[in-house]
Amino acid sequence: MKLTTRFAPSPTGYLHVGGARTALFSWLYARRHGGDFILRIEDTDRERSTEASVNAILEGMNWLGLEYDQGPFYQTHRFDRYKEVIQQLLEQGSAYYCYCSREELDKMREGQRARKEKPRYTGLCRSRTEPREGVDPVIRFRNPTEGAVVVDDLVRGKVVFQNSELDDLIIARSDGTPTYNLTVVVDDLDMGLTHVIRGDDHLNNTPRQINILKALGAELPKYAHLPMILGADGSRLSKRHGAVGVMQYRDEGYLPEALLNYLVRLGWSHGDQEIFSMDEMVKLFELEDINHSASTFNPEKLLWLNQHYIKSSSPEHVARHLSWHMGQRGIDPAHGPDLVKVVEAQQERAKTLVEMADNSRCFYLDFDTFDPNAAKKNLKAAAEEPLTKIRDTLAELEIWDAEPIHEVVKEVAERLDLKLGKVAQPLRVAATGGAISPPIDITLALIGRERVLQRIEMALTFIAERIVANG
Ligand code: GLU
Repeated sequence: MKLTTRFAPSPTGYLHVGGARTALFSWLYARRHGGDFILRIEDTDRERSTEASVNAILEGMNWLGLEYDQGPFYQTHRFDRYKEVIQQLLEQGSAYYCYCSREELDKMREGQRARKEKPRYTGLCRSRTEPREGVDPVIRFRNPTEGAVVVDDLVRGKVVFQNSELDDLIIARSDGTPTYNLTVVVDDLDMGLTHVIRGDDHLNNTPRQINILKALGAELPKYAHLPMILGADGSRLSKRHGAVGVMQYRDEGYLPEALLNYLVRLGWSHGDQEIFSMDEMVKLFELEDINHSASTFNPEKLLWLNQHYIKSSSPEHVARHLSWHMGQRGIDPAHGPDLVKVVEAQQERAKTLVEMADNSRCFYLDFDTFDPNAAKKNLKAAAEEPLTKIRDTLAELEIWDAEPIHEVVKEVAERLDLKLGKVAQPLRVAATGGAISPPIDITLALIGRERVLQRIEMALTFIAERIVANG
């Protein structure tokens, strides 16, 4: 049987980092062993599932580059098949109709509570042969009453569940729709899953699923339950801890490989290595190396990885992602300098693509005001002469390129007996509107001659007005 893993999200929200980690581990394991990775959308909860959420999951998977070999399969398309299996279980006596009313169940629970027992279904309808008039029954799985289920978990080792602790689970509601544990079992079986890798919040479902699989005479898949992800305060990671949606990280300027690299280390390690390319992950990933304890989400480390990937990725690759951010700012990078060059100029300094995109505005868009603090400090009377001289020389420059521009700035500073910064900084504020940019020569080269001259003009007007205003 071909090794097959799956990611089986319920589309009730966006793709969050916990889900993405499950998807990544399942994907890696399949890739590592030349198997198949399946995407299955568990959308049977029709009240909570939305199409927007399905799209958000597909978008997240696509952005992360976790391509699936089969699917997406939708559980809502498989109701006939679930019915068939439920029927089979009924026919072979592994399931039965339960007519218990809400009142009867409440009474049962009350009694159990009073006796300090675990609330559970006692099996009242197990041996009932006659239907109850006027009641739409649910269908329950006839769980074995004796013995134990041993989950031989690839992460946690053996976990033993006593059958006496598991009651008869509802597998079909009174309207005939199947419940979660049934659909998962049928799908895992039909889709030939050999490895079920999922969050450990599902560990308690596993013995129930194993019992149903056994009743169907199926071969069991192997299970690997991943430890939880916690926020810095030790509670389960949630919105309170900041961004948890995968696409939110795109919006905040992260590269997918930074997030993937971060996620792979959340619960998995290979010595003390921190940086993993996708190829390396695929080569090294083993379930045995998954930690047994929960891991803590650390946004600073993710930011550090992002900076690493911005710095070390090819400028073309970064530019492809930056282009999206430019678009978000209403900028079409086709109108202006080559975005790859803009990236090259800034790769060393940006921690996020949002920062890089914000700092790249001046290469594509004109502005009509200077950053007030930068202007106050740099666009004053003393800057008038150097800016005028620079403007005149730049206007005459034969080749508009960083190196000759650098020469101009240097020469003007020398001629006026000024430190380079006294010339370069007012020039930077004039040309970019603010105090931060890549080296001034590269900056001007990218902005282009016409725009630079116009902006110096604007700065000179600003200085002149300031002199007048100050008397
Ligand atoms: N649909 C379940 C969830 O989103 C996962 C089911 C499974 O992995 O078995 O939590």
